Amino acid sequence: MNVLHLGNEVLRQKAVSVPEVTDEIRELIRDMFVTMKEEDGIGLAAPQVGQSLRLFIVKADDGIDRVFINPQILQTSTEMCSYEEGCLSIPSVYEDVVRPERITVQALNERGRPFTLEAEGLLARVIQHENDHLDGILFIDRIDPKTKAKVEQKFAQRAEKQGL
Ligand SMILES: [Zn+2]
Repeated sequence: MNVLHLGNEVLRQKAVSVPEVTDEIRELIRDMFVTMKEEDGIGLAAPQVGQSLRLFIVKADDGIDRVFINPQILQTSTEMCSYEEGCLSIPSVYEDVVRPERITVQALNERGRPFTLEAEGLLARVIQHENDHLDGILFIDRIDPKTKAKVEQKFAQRAEKQGL
């Protein structure tokens, strides 16, 4: 699957809930895991591969393949932390982003069963980053506006060069 880059409007859309976890959805998830591995990522949201659905996958430092369908972040810690983020949709850009250190998230797994997960560290970080994608939010929206403008300009020029 192709990963969409900054400038593609699908990345800015609010994704819709997955009505039912069907075999088609499971196939999409399988394809997304292949793509994430190929791209050497630790998280991938469906809108990044052009599917405006509330679904993302994560493989953080614990090495576990995790699927989140129709996720909801129920709780966030008041404690915040800063971490350098990147995004497969914004290649070669890495910036520090401040987010809550711990979260509680509820979602459906690939069998359509609900689960609740308390996460901290890198896992909590990736879940929040991917969950943002479902609302059309990118990590550059959470950094200094001047730096964000520079990144957007760079990607607009690149798209122009490629005739997109
Ligand atoms: Zn991302």
